[in-house]
Amino acid sequence: MNLEDLKGIGPKTLQKLNLAGINSLNDLINLEPKEYISLVLNNEIKEEKSLIYVTNVKLAKVTSMSNNAKMIIFSALFNGKNYKFIIFSKEYMTYILGKNKSLYLYVNYVKEKNYFNVHKIFVDKPNDIKVIYKISDISDTNISKLIFEAFNYFKAPKERLPLDIVNKYKFISYKDYLLLKHFPKNNLDLKQVMRRKIYENFFYRNVFYQILNIKNIKDKDIKEFNDNDIFEFVKLFSFKLTNDQEKVSDLILKETKSSKRINMLIEGDVGSGKTVVALISAYANILANYQVAFLAPTVILANQHYNLAKKYIPNTYLLTSNLKKKEKEEILNKIKTEDNILVIGTHAILEDDVIFKKLGLVIIDEQQRFGVLQRSILQKKYPHVDTLYFTATPIPRSLAMTYYGGLDLAIIKDKPMGRKAVKTKLIKDSDLAKIIPFLKERLAANEQIFIVCPLIYPNEDSLLWDISKTKNYFKDLLNVDIGIIHGELKDKEKVEIIRAFNDNEIKVLVATTIIEVGIDIKNATTLILLDANRYGLSTIHQLRGRVGRGNLDSYMFLVSPNLDNERLKILEEVNDGFTLAEYDLKLRGPGEFLSRSQSGFTNQLETDLEKKIYSYAVEDAKEYATKLIANNEVVEYEKILNEINLHEYENN
Ligand code: ADP
Ligand code: MG
Repeated sequence: MNLEDLKGIGPKTLQKLNLAGINSLNDLINLEPKEYISLVLNNEIKEEKSLIYVTNVKLAKVTSMSNNAKMIIFSALFNGKNYKFIIFSKEYMTYILGKNKSLYLYVNYVKEKNYFNVHKIFVDKPNDIKVIYKISDISDTNISKLIFEAFNYFKAPKERLPLDIVNKYKFISYKDYLLLKHFPKNNLDLKQVMRRKIYENFFYRNVFYQILNIKNIKDKDIKEFNDNDIFEFVKLFSFKLTNDQEKVSDLILKETKSSKRINMLIEGDVGSGKTVVALISAYANILANYQVAFLAPTVILANQHYNLAKKYIPNTYLLTSNLKKKEKEEILNKIKTEDNILVIGTHAILEDDVIFKKLGLVIIDEQQRFGVLQRSILQKKYPHVDTLYFTATPIPRSLAMTYYGGLDLAIIKDKPMGRKAVKTKLIKDSDLAKIIPFLKERLAANEQIFIVCPLIYPNEDSLLWDISKTKNYFKDLLNVDIGIIHGELKDKEKVEIIRAFNDNEIKVLVATTIIEVGIDIKNATTLILLDANRYGLSTIHQLRGRVGRGNLDSYMFLVSPNLDNERLKILEEVNDGFTLAEYDLKLRGPGEFLSRSQSGFTNQLETDLEKKIYSYAVEDAKEYATKLIANNEVVEYEKILNEINLHEYENN
């Protein structure tokens, strides 16, 4: 059955689904919820969001707002007292005008103004847990309906974990897992889902690494180059290397010369200067007459690296999927025939038609953005190759060892001299206008500003900031031209906007988290994050890394409807990614930490034993990998792995 044959899917919905990468019933059912919210009925007045039951609903007033939305004010009885309620969406109008004199409301109380902010309305008592998908332009309710419908036509899948493991840990079956992850009735259901999900994440990943470890060649040719040439190369940069940059580069250079294959993860905080280390490693290979593939997760970042690298390494080429056919052919031909070249690019480098003549080193920047399978494509194709993985989202050492199945780990802790901490301040949404004079000062000083918001388009929860609402708001107040960038622009347009911002033609850039990784624009000193409470620590810290990359004072404003947020407060205090990671792991437990999800559920659900479930997966995986190889079943396993797409755990 095709997606468009499903009840409730017309051409418009189909198009929206396809845009979100959902092309089949299978895709729909394998969708990963972004968040679960608790809708357990609450009888107290709370500033955090919760579900309450109200009676005597009476409409008071409807006003239109600037962005076409409606503000609806009504009154109702809660716990025997009359309160004021506000909804910012006309979608819910019918509930209030209808005959429903009592309703279930998902609200938060705004203390200083003495009203309830209404986020969702239910006529009947909803399940204890609401599942959030955040698919742009389609409501979560609709997604749930479609998934429910899809299950009617879905053949019960075979258990994918080995049965003895399912029994050993009393996991729910795979079929139940799929069902309950979309329709958990209560916390217990969710706990079952989380246990299995966390375990699987570690298990499959480790089986994969184990197979790669066992099957891969441990040795490689010794690469020869002259240390003095490296010395001269490093002198070309306008700065002196930090101690850690030097230490890690030395280690890589030493191993480049040795006969042991390099398979190393380099963790370094945002702005610690990882790119130079990557370029030094690349240059050593070029000197030794080998080719280098340098992968970045986005076209924007690939372009940035390319523009930098070609200044220092002349035979550098850019390979992205938006090249013209002829350009692409030319580059593919160079890759096939020329020895010592540096190829920088996106996933396009991983395509089958890219055939390296003499690949010596693979560099994967922002490696957390690539799926496990993607990361290993070149290793499998060229088993002798050295591989360096770079990441700016540090994972505490203990967890990294189990998560990355035995990679070597190197850490860049120092920051370049003269770097100051980014001054981070939490402000209330309603106080946003108060920072405008400050922003004007920054602009007057010829500095630039990023403004990041969660949505591309407005959606059902229209209280959130979207791109055009944000642009309009700041345009009116700041009176400058404002550029926008988000994931649905064409690659060419993205590259052009970033170029214009980089060349200071645009002073203010409104963006989604698409700018989260890697972008290096020294003149941008201020970043405003709207609806900051929606993001996890590591994402916010990554975004913060977009400013403070030079020696200018820099600032981040975390704008949130509610200041009472432990996660955001810690960001005001702590500027170091490693400390934040440790804290975050403690706060949320390994499952959510690694999935970057913010549900706040796993930690609350996990007992100490449950928290450790991931660590058993490593041993189980070793045993299983050995068995697969002995029984010649590796190919079968890789089929399962393809379906699982481990990517989903890292890139939400
Ligand atoms: P990241 O670790 O986030 O990838 P980058 O490699 O992009 O960081 O470096 C951030 C900025 O710091 C760049 O503009 C780079 O030129 C600069 N930089 C890197 N190393 C040093 C250094 N040792 N001294 C001064 N500036 C440096
Ligand atoms: Mg980087």
